[in-house]
Amino acid sequence: MDDLTSRHETDFHLKSTFWLSVTAGTLVLPFAFYHLTYQHEGIGIGAVITSLSLYFVAWRCHKKSYKTIYTFIWLGPFTTLFVAYLTEKIGITGTYWCYSTVLLYYFMMSERQAWISNIVFALVNVPIAWSLFETHEATRFSVTFALVSAYSAIFLHIIARQYSELHKQAITDKLTGLYNRTLLKDSLEQAIHQANRTNTAFTLIIMDVDHFKMINDELGHEIGDHVLKQLGVFLKDFLRDSDKVFRIGGEEFLVLLYNTDEANSIDIAEKIRKGIEKLSLIPGRTVTVSIGVAGLNSVRDWKHWMKNGDKNLYEAKNSGRNRVVFCKG
Ligand code: GH3
Ligand code: MG
Ligand code: MG
Repeated sequence: MDDLTSRHETDFHLKSTFWLSVTAGTLVLPFAFYHLTYQHEGIGIGAVITSLSLYFVAWRCHKKSYKTIYTFIWLGPFTTLFVAYLTEKIGITGTYWCYSTVLLYYFMMSERQAWISNIVFALVNVPIAWSLFETHEATRFSVTFALVSAYSAIFLHIIARQYSELHKQAITDKLTGLYNRTLLKDSLEQAIHQANRTNTAFTLIIMDVDHFKMINDELGHEIGDHVLKQLGVFLKDFLRDSDKVFRIGGEEFLVLLYNTDEANSIDIAEKIRKGIEKLSLIPGRTVTVSIGVAGLNSVRDWKHWMKNGDKNLYEAKNSGRNRVVFCKG
């Protein structure tokens, strides 16, 4: 599930980074003008560079091309040195910026990059505080800074974990543990894109349980659920990690086979069909499935691809069920 999960995490990350950069970039500007006009030009210029760098980050986020490495190698080191310079110039009030700067690191970088930047920031700025301020001030600064750093790291860690757990729940079918439909469109579009770019073969299998209503009606809904669960277990065990399995309807499943040409996919579909037939999921009764297979040849878009799979599944049902149908186009 990892590539899809991380894709959505990235969207979330881009949005939060965008708004934080815009807010921070804007709030720094009045200080930049104040210092450029009345006080230290150096501070004013540093603040303008900080603000522009933050707007640059926001712009990259807007274009969906932001990379955390940019903040790690430029904005992180620059703000570390700028806050040090600020503290040298204006004393203890300069250190106030330490807190928001470190908090920004945790939003704008990966956890590991933020940790490293936070440590470098402390290694540069804490000794400066000790060299410039009275012991009681330096102690207070060091302790409060350590606390803010620890809170930021812990909060971000918790938020990231909760987000990834929620996202996992949102894309997973509760009964079978397979993917639900949420990521279906994205996955198929991604496959079409990759096939066009790298010539990788992808095939889609749509599978529907035969006479499932009868199982429910005669044996009860719970037995029906049991069958669906076991089918999920079978598909997950049988397929490779690179293949994606979705439950797209009540008793309907879709498999996206990675790097599998049409001939191989028909072979795999047959193995799935025969495997399920032999499973003996319900004592004294054979559960069978009908399968439609669709390759990517002459497919216009993901909907067209699904339609081809559905057409073949319909054909499998109409020609007697418990069979695999594949026809081009
Ligand atoms: P066919 O061979 O033509 O596919 O016939 P079928 O009976 O399998 O198809 P039909 O679409 O008539 O029935 C599907 C049934 O699946 C109807 C619905 O009650 C049942 N179903 C849908 N979701 C669930 C579920 O989550 N659990 C259970 N137990 N049954 C479900
Ligand atoms: Mg059915
Ligand atoms: Mg159905």
